[in-house]
Amino acid sequence: MNGRPCSKVACNQDATATLTYVYADSMAVLGPLSHSAEPHCYDLCERHAERLSAPQGWQVVRHVVMGSSFGE
Ligand SMILES: [Zn+2]
Repeated sequence: MNGRPCSKVACNQDATATLTYVYADSMAVLGPLSHSAEPHCYDLCERHAERLSAPQGWQVVRHVVMGSSFGE
């Protein structure tokens, strides 16, 4: 559907989410896969998105719930 791979080294799964680091607020925002690749954004597959951990002192904000239905 999108053909974008997970950005993790040695992972070749299709990306299902995009992680964006908001440096001003020390937040790691996980949301739906973005349409275009941008700086400070990392595409992640479902497995890596679930296992995401933010750097110490950072907050993780998830805009998608893995495994739930989309399009409600
Ligand atoms: Zn992955």
